[in-house]
Amino acid sequence: MIQKNQEYDVTIVDLTYEGMGVAKIDHYPLFIENTLPGEEVRIKVLKVGKKFGFGKVVEFYKTSPDRIPSEEKKWTQTGIAPLQHMRYDAQLAFKKRQVEECLHKMHCDEVEVHDTTPSPQQMHYRNKAQVPVRVIDGKMEVGFYRKNSHQFIAIQNFGIQQEDIDDALQVIARILTEFGVSAYNEERHEGVLRHIIVRQGYYSKEMMVTLVTRKKKLFQGQQIAQRIIEEIPTVVSVMQNINDQKTNVIMGENTICLAGKERIEDEMLGHTFQISAPSFYQVNTPQAEAMYQKAIDLAHLSKDMIAIDAYCGIGTITLSIAPYVKEIYGVEVVAPAIDNAKENAKENEMTNVHFAVGKAEEVLSKWQEEGIQPDVVFVDPPRKGLARSFVETTIELAPEKIAYISCNPATFARDVALFKEAGYRLDEVYPYDMFPQTTHVECVGVLYKQN
Ligand code: SAH
Repeated sequence: MIQKNQEYDVTIVDLTYEGMGVAKIDHYPLFIENTLPGEEVRIKVLKVGKKFGFGKVVEFYKTSPDRIPSEEKKWTQTGIAPLQHMRYDAQLAFKKRQVEECLHKMHCDEVEVHDTTPSPQQMHYRNKAQVPVRVIDGKMEVGFYRKNSHQFIAIQNFGIQQEDIDDALQVIARILTEFGVSAYNEERHEGVLRHIIVRQGYYSKEMMVTLVTRKKKLFQGQQIAQRIIEEIPTVVSVMQNINDQKTNVIMGENTICLAGKERIEDEMLGHTFQISAPSFYQVNTPQAEAMYQKAIDLAHLSKDMIAIDAYCGIGTITLSIAPYVKEIYGVEVVAPAIDNAKENAKENEMTNVHFAVGKAEEVLSKWQEEGIQPDVVFVDPPRKGLARSFVETTIELAPEKIAYISCNPATFARDVALFKEAGYRLDEVYPYDMFPQTTHVECVGVLYKQN
């Protein structure tokens, strides 16, 4: 029997989707942070569960050739950069393998998985930060929680965020300290400030700061916002979002403007976009552009085509496709994102785009009833993938092509298998590294209808 606090010598045999090394003692799996396959280590058992346990390294006997020195222990402790100890080419190979394994599980071994496209930037690539706060010794600090814990770790250098954002967070925290704003306490559900969100346009450099508060009342909110704008010249918008729920969802329903504009502007594939606080916007801009371009290329669009862009957000993909097709219809569930999308279409002088608010699966059925007959359907769903009814309606609509952009290879493979059953073929898939130093992988592939 494996005992807690006991030490064992083990060899790491695998790496999980979460980036934890796996060792087995008499077939019992133990997950160990900061280890890589092939490494021989002495571990201490931290937790023993029914089917698996957790351990931590006490000593390395043999390290992997894929190992590089970790830059910052906090990034691993909080899970910001769980693969920072892995060479970048090994990270790319690990991500390719993830996509292969997911397709294999769904009996889609015929699909060729290409090498993962590396991110143009491997550090400081995120255009957005959302961080919790704590007051420590009278000073407001930004940081993250230790994984699976309520222990707050203050952080100045987050490693993966645009450096302007790290700098801005420190200035904002100082201003909030000066105004005596209290930090939210999860356990007691009291205190004022829950999170600070900073989003910065990759090309425009325009910054939006959103203060997420428990209640609407934020004493001297406007003065705080003014000070933020004065001290950080790139900030053009300070918003307040109210979240009074006991939840780990970061933003609540209501957002108000404290100072400046209600949107920031940025650019993707040569088009300009207005982005408001509740709208989704890809965090690694140049890599997202590369991935969109790949989807467009693989779809072989032409001016006589009707296209649909489901899960369209602020219309980044919709507007990128619009010049190549006859008409395009976008659907998205977040209403403010569709407001942005409509405005973005207008600003870019596009008249062949149409947007609808609602669940993709419901709006698609409505379009079907209205007789809209797409030649190509683009999808870019959240991690849970496509709704079953969306897949069914798409199969009924029978577009020639389905261009699938995915942030989760497991649901991607599940959905691909459904389309395959209905007579679609997927020849190849391209993984993109959108989130270096983390275990996440995006991929894009275009399914073709078999005749
Ligand atoms: N294509 C966009 C957004 C992709 S993210 C871009 O690249 O910027 C996925 C989007 O799907 C989010 O904007 C989210 O709000 C939206 N979404 C989630 N569930 C949905 C549903 N059931 N129907 C429509 N949109 C949904």
